[in-house]
Amino acid sequence: MTWLSVGEDGSLTLPADYLARRGLRPGDRLLAWADRDSVTLHRVALDAQVVYLEPTARCNLNCAICVRQVWPDPAGDMDWAVFETLLAQLPAFLDPSGRASGQGLRRIVWGGYGEPLVHPRLPEMLERASALGVGLTLTTNGLLLDEALTRRLLQTRLDRVVVSLDTAHAQAYDGARIAGGLAQVLANVRRLARLAEARPGPPLDLGLEFVVTRSNQGELPRLRDVAQDVGASFVLVSHLLPHSPAAAAETLYDSDPPLGPPVSWPVRDRGEIVWGRMEWPRMKWGAQRRCRFVERRALVVGWDGGVSPCYPLLHTYPYYVYGTRKEVSRYVLGRVTETPLADIWTSAEYVRFRARVRAFDFPSCVDCGLERCDIRAANQDCQGDGPSCADCLWAQGLIQCP
Ligand code: SF4
Ligand code: SF4
Repeated sequence: MTWLSVGEDGSLTLPADYLARRGLRPGDRLLAWADRDSVTLHRVALDAQVVYLEPTARCNLNCAICVRQVWPDPAGDMDWAVFETLLAQLPAFLDPSGRASGQGLRRIVWGGYGEPLVHPRLPEMLERASALGVGLTLTTNGLLLDEALTRRLLQTRLDRVVVSLDTAHAQAYDGARIAGGLAQVLANVRRLARLAEARPGPPLDLGLEFVVTRSNQGELPRLRDVAQDVGASFVLVSHLLPHSPAAAAETLYDSDPPLGPPVSWPVRDRGEIVWGRMEWPRMKWGAQRRCRFVERRALVVGWDGGVSPCYPLLHTYPYYVYGTRKEVSRYVLGRVTETPLADIWTSAEYVRFRARVRAFDFPSCVDCGLERCDIRAANQDCQGDGPSCADCLWAQGLIQCP
C-alpha cells in the first residue's frame, strides 16, 4: 500500500519502488478507471504470451458431444490473407531479447473447435510460424496424421501435440464410416512419437486428451496403458461441456469418489526415461475460480480473424450448468484484418476485461438461489456489463484445454 498526492497541476506521482516493481518506465501507459471511492490503475503492455489460433471451424468428424452440433456459427477456414496479416503482427509481442522463454510471446496453439488438419495449408502455417522461434502446439483428433503429413510437420518447430482420444471420437469414426478408426489413430500417434524421437529438431511433448462422462468413466483405468503404448507423456482429462439436457446428465463433476488414483508410466524421451502424468480435472464446484486463459496471458484468434479472450467465448452456443441453460454469445474484441493485434490487446475494453477476470469480479450464480434469471441465461451478470465468467466451467477447473 502506498500514499499518492495530487500535484498542483492534477498529476499523480508514483513512487520509484512501485515503478521498479512493475517494470514501468517513462512513456509507459496505464489505464485508469474510477469507481465511487477508488481509482484503479492497470499496466498496458504487449505482454500476451500464448496465441490460440483456430485455423478452421470445420471438422472431419461429427462427435455427438461437440457444441458444433448446436451452434449457429458458420464453419469456415482461415483465409491465407488473414493468417499472413496475423503472422505479420505477432513480432510486436516477442520478447526484445528474442528468447521464447522471456516475458514475450512463448507459444502458438493450433486448435479451436474444428480439426486443424482439415485446413489445406496447415503445414505451411506451421512452417511460416517456425521463424518466430516460439513453441508450437497442435491439437488434433489424429485421424489425418498419415506418414507424409507427420514427416512434414516434424520439420517445423512443432514441439507439442495433443490428440483427442475418447469414446465420443471412437463413436464418430463409426458415424463417418471410418473402418478401424481407433486402430488408425493409435498407429498414427505411435508413428508420430517414433519419428519425433529420431528428428534432429526440438523434442516433442506428446499428450492425449480424454473427455470423461458417466458412460465412459469405466475406460479411465486403461488410459495409462494406452498412453504408455503410444509414447504419450501426459493425459489431460476433462469434464464435458454439455450442450443439451441429455449431455448435462452425462457430466461427472460433483460425484464421488475421485476419478482415479495418481498414476504414472515410463516414457522414452531422447534416450532418457521420463514419467508420464495424468492431469485430472477438479471434481467439485467450488468458491475458488481462476481463469487459465487470462493468467497465462493468452488470446484466441478465430478462423475469421476475430479475437476473443478464451475458448468459451470464441463461439455462440448454449450450455448447461446444474440444469440451467445459458446462451453464450461470441465475444470479439476486434479483428486482426481491421485493427492490429497490438491495439486490440491494449484496448481499454480488453485491458479492463482482463483485470475484471483476474480479480474474478463476478457473482456466484450457482449460489444465488434464483431459479430463473434472464441475465444469467444470456451469460451476463448483475454486477457488470459484458460477458460474464460467473459460472464458467473452465474457471472452475472442470473443463481443461491444452
Ligand atoms: S446474474 Fe446475479 S441475479 Fe442472476 S443468477 Fe447470477 S448472481 Fe443471481
Ligand atoms: S473465466 Fe471463462 S469465460 Fe471468463 S475469460 Fe476465463 S475462460 Fe473465458
